[in-house]
Amino acid sequence: MAILVTGGAGYIGTHTCVELLNNGEEIIVVDNLSNSKKEALNRVRLITGKDFKFYQINISDRKSLTNVFEENDIEAVIHFAGLKAVGESVVVPLRYYDNNLTGTIRLCEVMREFGVKKLVFSSSATVYGQTEQMPIKEDATLSATNPYGRTKQMIEEMLLDLYASDPSWSIALLRYFNPIGAHGSGLIGEDPNGIPNNLLPYISQVAVGKIRQLHIFGNDYPTGDGTGVRDYIHVTDLANGHLRALEFVRSSTVVEPFNLGTGQGYSVLEVVQAFEKATGKHIPYRVVERRPGDAAVCYANPKKSLKQLAWQAKKNMEQMCVDTWRWQQHNPNGYESKQLV
Ligand code: NAD
Ligand code: UDP
Repeated sequence: MAILVTGGAGYIGTHTCVELLNNGEEIIVVDNLSNSKKEALNRVRLITGKDFKFYQINISDRKSLTNVFEENDIEAVIHFAGLKAVGESVVVPLRYYDNNLTGTIRLCEVMREFGVKKLVFSSSATVYGQTEQMPIKEDATLSATNPYGRTKQMIEEMLLDLYASDPSWSIALLRYFNPIGAHGSGLIGEDPNGIPNNLLPYISQVAVGKIRQLHIFGNDYPTGDGTGVRDYIHVTDLANGHLRALEFVRSSTVVEPFNLGTGQGYSVLEVVQAFEKATGKHIPYRVVERRPGDAAVCYANPKKSLKQLAWQAKKNMEQMCVDTWRWQQHNPNGYESKQLV
C-alpha cells in the first residue's frame, strides 16, 4: 500500500519523500506545481534511485483526486499541499482560505469515501500567535494572527471535529517551527519565488551575490541582542518527524498535535554569525524597522514529540547553514539551474 503525499514537490515534501523512499515506503505524489517545479521530483528520484507516480492536480478538484484514489491502493496521507506566505495571505486572504481549507475538505471527503482515515497534517507554530508561554507546549492557547495562520488553526479545528464525529480516524497535527537547511546531497532545497520572505533563504541569496545585504527586522526586542529569536530546525530532521508521525497514525486512532522543533532559540544575529562561520561568507546587514506582526521569541517545547513519537531533532545550526549553502551554491537559480552537483 502507498502513502499519498500532497504537495510532495515542495520544500518539505521533497525532503520527506526522500526519507519515505529510503525507508522502503511506496509513495504517490500529488501537486499542482503552483509553488514548485517538476524537476524537484526528478531530483528525489536521483537521490533515492527509486521511482514513484506523480499526478499534477489541484487537490480541490474532487474528480482528479478521486481518480488518484481509484488508481492506487492508498494507506495513509501526508498532507503538505497549501499556500504558505504570511504577507501574501494578508493581501489575498480569500485565495488562502479557498486553497488551504477547500483543498483539505476535499481531501478528507475523498479519503473518507475510500476508507482511508490516517492523516499527517502540516500545521505550523504560527497557530500559537503571540503567546507569552516559552518554550511553547502543545496545550498553549491557539491565536493565529494572520490569514495564513488562521487557515492552519481552522484546519486543525476542522480535523478535531472530524475525529469527534468518527473516532476511527487517526490524525497527527504537526506544528513546525522554522524549517531551514537542505538535503546533504545539495540536490534538493528551498527554492522560493522572487525575493525570499524567510531569513535563511534571504541570507543565502546575499551570500551568493543575488541580494546586496540582509535587512534585520528590528534590534530592540527584549532578547539577548535585541533581534528576534526562533527555533530553526533542519528540514531532514523535520522530514523524519513525518515518518514517526506516520508510525503513530498507523498504530493508534487519535487526533494529536505535536511540536516539531529543536527546543533551542537562535537570534537573527546568531544565525548570521553561524552562517558566516559555517560558510566563510561575509553577510552585510542593516537593521531596519520591525516587521509588523513578528513575535520577539518563539521556540518549542518538543518533549511530547520525544515521548509519543520517539522523535528528536539531531542536526545543529552549523549543519543547517552548511547544507543551506551547499544547495544555494550548486543551484543559484533553484531548480532552474542547469548544473547538477
Ligand atoms: P511549499 O510551497 O514548498 O510546498 C507546498 C506544495 O503544495 C507546493 O509544491 C505547491 O505547489 C503545492 N500546493 C499548494 N496548493 C495546492 C493545491 N491546492 N493542490 C495541489 N498542490 C498544492 O511549502 P513547504 O515549505 O514545503 O510547506 C509545506 C507545508 O508545510 C505547507 O502546508 C506549509 O503551510 C507548512 N509549513 C511550512 C513552513 C515553512 O516554513 N516552510 C512552516 C510551517 C508550516
Ligand atoms: N528576519 C529578518 N530579516 C529577513 C527575514 C526575517 O530580520 O529578511 C527575522 C524575522 O524578523 C524573525 C526571524 O528573522 O525574527 C525569522 O523570520 P522568518 O520569516 O524566517 O520566520 P518567522 O518569522 O515566520 O518565524
